[in-house]
Amino acid sequence: MRGPERLQALVHTVPDFPAPGVLFRDLSPLLADSASFAHAIELLADQAITAGPLPDLIAGMEARGFIFGAALAAHLGTGFVPLRKAGKLPPPVIATDYTLEYGTARLEMSALAVQPGQRVLLVDDLLATGGTALAGAQLLRHAGATVTEALFVIALDDLGGHAALLDQGITTTALLA
Ligand code: AMP
Repeated sequence: MRGPERLQALVHTVPDFPAPGVLFRDLSPLLADSASFAHAIELLADQAITAGPLPDLIAGMEARGFIFGAALAAHLGTGFVPLRKAGKLPPPVIATDYTLEYGTARLEMSALAVQPGQRVLLVDDLLATGGTALAGAQLLRHAGATVTEALFVIALDDLGGHAALLDQGITTTALLA
Protein backbone atom coordinates (compact mmCIF):
# COMPACT_ATOMS: atom_id res chain seq x y z
CA MET A 1 0.00 0.00 0.00
CA ARG A 2 1.47 3.38 -1.03
CA GLY A 3 0.66 7.06 -1.18
CA PRO A 4 -2.79 8.30 -0.21
CA GLU A 5 -4.05 4.73 0.35
CA ARG A 6 -1.50 4.25 3.11
CA LEU A 7 -2.47 7.61 4.66
CA GLN A 8 -6.17 6.71 4.43
CA ALA A 9 -5.52 3.40 6.17
CA LEU A 10 -3.94 5.27 9.10
CA VAL A 11 -7.00 7.46 9.75
CA HIS A 12 -8.92 6.02 12.69
CA THR A 13 -12.65 6.74 12.34
CA VAL A 14 -14.53 6.89 15.63
CA PRO A 15 -18.35 7.03 15.71
CA ASP A 16 -20.16 9.34 18.14
CA PHE A 17 -17.10 11.31 19.28
CA PRO A 18 -17.08 13.92 20.76
CA ALA A 19 -20.88 13.99 20.37
CA PRO A 20 -23.55 11.57 19.10
CA GLY A 21 -23.71 11.48 15.30
CA VAL A 22 -20.14 12.75 14.71
CA LEU A 23 -17.78 10.42 12.84
CA PHE A 24 -14.47 11.64 14.26
CA ARG A 25 -11.35 11.26 12.09
CA ASP A 26 -8.40 10.62 14.42
CA LEU A 27 -5.05 11.16 12.71
CA SER A 28 -2.95 9.87 15.64
CA PRO A 29 -1.89 6.64 13.83
CA LEU A 30 -0.84 8.65 10.76
CA LEU A 31 1.17 11.10 12.88
CA ALA A 32 2.88 8.25 14.72
CA ASP A 33 4.02 6.61 11.46
CA SER A 34 7.20 8.47 10.48
CA ALA A 35 7.03 7.72 6.74
CA SER A 36 3.34 8.58 6.52
CA PHE A 37 3.64 11.85 8.44
CA ALA A 38 6.55 12.89 6.20
CA HIS A 39 4.59 11.80 3.12
CA ALA A 40 1.55 13.82 4.18
CA ILE A 41 3.74 16.93 4.56
CA GLU A 42 5.31 16.29 1.13
CA LEU A 43 1.87 15.95 -0.47
CA LEU A 44 0.67 19.15 1.22
CA ALA A 45 3.85 20.88 0.01
CA ASP A 46 3.17 19.67 -3.57
CA GLN A 47 -0.31 21.20 -3.34
CA ALA A 48 1.05 24.48 -1.96
CA ILE A 49 3.63 24.69 -4.75
CA THR A 50 1.06 23.80 -7.45
CA ALA A 51 -1.30 26.51 -6.17
CA GLY A 52 1.10 29.28 -7.23
CA PRO A 53 3.87 31.42 -5.74
CA LEU A 54 4.83 30.31 -2.22
CA PRO A 55 2.93 32.14 0.53
CA ASP A 56 4.74 34.44 2.96
CA LEU A 57 3.21 32.60 5.91
CA ILE A 58 1.26 29.49 6.77
CA ALA A 59 -1.51 29.86 9.36
CA GLY A 60 -2.57 26.78 11.34
CA MET A 61 -5.89 26.37 13.13
CA GLU A 62 -5.72 25.24 16.79
CA ALA A 63 -4.93 22.52 17.53
CA ARG A 64 -4.27 19.90 14.85
CA GLY A 65 -3.67 22.58 12.23
CA PHE A 66 -0.57 23.51 14.25
CA ILE A 67 0.92 20.06 13.67
CA PHE A 68 0.50 19.98 9.90
CA GLY A 69 0.84 23.73 9.36
CA ALA A 70 4.08 24.14 11.31
CA ALA A 71 5.67 21.07 9.70
CA LEU A 72 4.62 22.33 6.26
CA ALA A 73 6.00 25.82 6.98
CA ALA A 74 9.38 24.36 8.01
CA HIS A 75 9.35 22.14 4.88
CA LEU A 76 8.56 25.06 2.54
CA GLY A 77 10.70 27.63 4.35
CA THR A 78 7.85 29.99 5.24
CA GLY A 79 6.88 31.50 8.58
CA PHE A 80 4.05 30.10 10.70
CA VAL A 81 1.14 31.80 12.50
CA PRO A 82 -0.95 29.92 15.09
CA LEU A 83 -4.65 30.88 15.07
CA ARG A 84 -5.75 30.19 18.63
CA LYS A 85 -8.82 29.71 20.74
CA ALA A 86 -9.70 32.63 23.00
CA GLY A 87 -7.52 33.51 25.98
CA LYS A 88 -4.35 31.60 25.05
CA LEU A 89 -2.23 34.42 23.61
CA PRO A 90 -0.78 37.45 25.40
CA PRO A 91 -1.58 40.93 24.06
CA PRO A 92 -1.54 42.43 21.54
CA VAL A 93 -4.08 40.13 19.86
CA ILE A 94 -6.58 40.47 17.01
CA ALA A 95 -9.83 38.52 17.51
CA THR A 96 -12.84 37.45 15.52
CA ASP A 97 -16.09 35.91 16.78
CA TYR A 98 -17.74 33.19 14.73
CA THR A 99 -20.81 30.98 14.88
CA LEU A 100 -20.61 27.29 15.74
CA GLU A 101 -23.38 24.73 15.46
CA TYR A 102 -24.26 25.60 19.07
CA GLY A 103 -23.31 29.14 20.17
CA THR A 104 -20.30 31.21 19.20
CA ALA A 105 -16.53 31.02 19.60
CA ARG A 106 -13.65 33.46 19.44
CA LEU A 107 -10.45 32.99 17.43
CA GLU A 108 -7.32 35.04 18.15
CA MET A 109 -3.89 35.66 16.67
CA SER A 110 -0.95 37.79 17.68
CA ALA A 111 -1.14 41.30 16.24
CA LEU A 112 2.64 41.02 15.79
CA ALA A 113 2.52 38.00 13.46
CA VAL A 114 1.15 39.25 10.13
CA GLN A 115 2.02 42.35 8.12
CA PRO A 116 -0.57 43.93 5.81
CA GLY A 117 -0.22 42.60 2.27
CA GLN A 118 1.34 39.28 3.21
CA ARG A 119 -0.04 36.21 1.46
CA VAL A 120 -1.13 33.56 3.95
CA LEU A 121 -2.00 29.90 3.29
CA LEU A 122 -4.49 28.38 5.77
CA VAL A 123 -3.88 24.80 6.99
CA ASP A 124 -5.98 22.48 9.14
CA ASP A 125 -6.32 18.74 9.59
CA LEU A 126 -9.92 18.52 8.44
CA LEU A 127 -12.54 20.55 6.53
CA ALA A 128 -16.17 19.92 7.50
CA THR A 129 -18.62 22.85 7.22
CA GLY A 130 -15.79 25.33 6.66
CA GLY A 131 -16.79 27.54 9.61
CA THR A 132 -13.44 27.21 11.38
CA ALA A 133 -11.38 27.94 8.27
CA LEU A 134 -13.63 30.89 7.35
CA ALA A 135 -13.10 32.36 10.81
CA GLY A 136 -9.35 31.97 10.31
CA ALA A 137 -9.52 33.68 6.93
CA GLN A 138 -11.61 36.50 8.38
CA LEU A 139 -9.07 37.05 11.15
CA LEU A 140 -6.13 37.09 8.75
CA ARG A 141 -7.93 39.42 6.36
CA HIS A 142 -8.75 41.69 9.29
CA ALA A 143 -4.98 41.96 9.79
CA GLY A 144 -4.57 42.95 6.14
CA ALA A 145 -3.38 39.58 4.83
CA THR A 146 -4.39 38.07 1.50
CA VAL A 147 -5.95 34.60 1.85
CA THR A 148 -6.90 32.70 -1.30
CA GLU A 149 -5.92 29.07 -0.57
CA ALA A 150 -6.58 26.56 2.19
CA LEU A 151 -5.09 23.06 2.56
CA PHE A 152 -6.46 20.14 4.56
CA VAL A 153 -5.42 16.55 5.14
CA ILE A 154 -9.09 15.46 5.00
CA ALA A 155 -12.19 17.10 3.51
CA LEU A 156 -15.64 15.72 4.31
CA ASP A 157 -17.13 16.55 0.93
CA ASP A 158 -20.81 16.41 1.82
CA LEU A 159 -20.66 19.08 4.56
CA GLY A 160 -20.33 22.08 2.24
CA GLY A 161 -16.92 23.36 3.32
CA HIS A 162 -15.46 23.66 -0.19
CA ALA A 163 -18.42 25.74 -1.41
CA ALA A 164 -18.50 27.91 1.73
CA LEU A 165 -14.83 28.82 1.34
CA LEU A 166 -15.04 29.28 -2.43
CA ASP A 167 -17.90 31.71 -1.81
CA GLN A 168 -15.38 33.83 0.14
CA GLY A 169 -12.74 33.58 -2.59
CA ILE A 170 -10.76 30.71 -1.05
CA THR A 171 -9.82 27.60 -3.03
CA THR A 172 -9.56 24.43 -0.96
CA THR A 173 -7.48 21.29 -1.51
CA ALA A 174 -7.41 18.10 0.56
CA LEU A 175 -5.32 14.93 0.44
CA LEU A 176 -8.08 12.56 1.56
CA ALA A 177 -11.89 12.40 1.60
P1 AMP B 1 -15.67 22.91 10.39
O1 AMP B 1 -15.49 24.26 11.02
O2 AMP B 1 -17.10 22.43 10.47
O3 AMP B 1 -15.13 22.87 8.97
O4 AMP B 1 -14.85 21.86 11.26
C1 AMP B 1 -13.47 21.73 11.09
C2 AMP B 1 -12.74 21.79 12.41
O5 AMP B 1 -13.35 20.93 13.37
C3 AMP B 1 -11.32 21.31 12.25
O6 AMP B 1 -10.47 22.11 13.09
C4 AMP B 1 -11.34 19.85 12.69
O7 AMP B 1 -10.19 19.52 13.45
C5 AMP B 1 -12.61 19.73 13.53
N1 AMP B 1 -13.50 18.66 13.07
C6 AMP B 1 -14.76 18.80 12.58
N2 AMP B 1 -15.32 17.63 12.28
C7 AMP B 1 -14.39 16.69 12.56
C8 AMP B 1 -14.35 15.25 12.44
N3 AMP B 1 -15.40 14.56 11.94
N4 AMP B 1 -13.23 14.61 12.81
C9 AMP B 1 -12.17 15.31 13.30
N5 AMP B 1 -12.14 16.64 13.44
C10 AMP B 1 -13.23 17.34 13.08
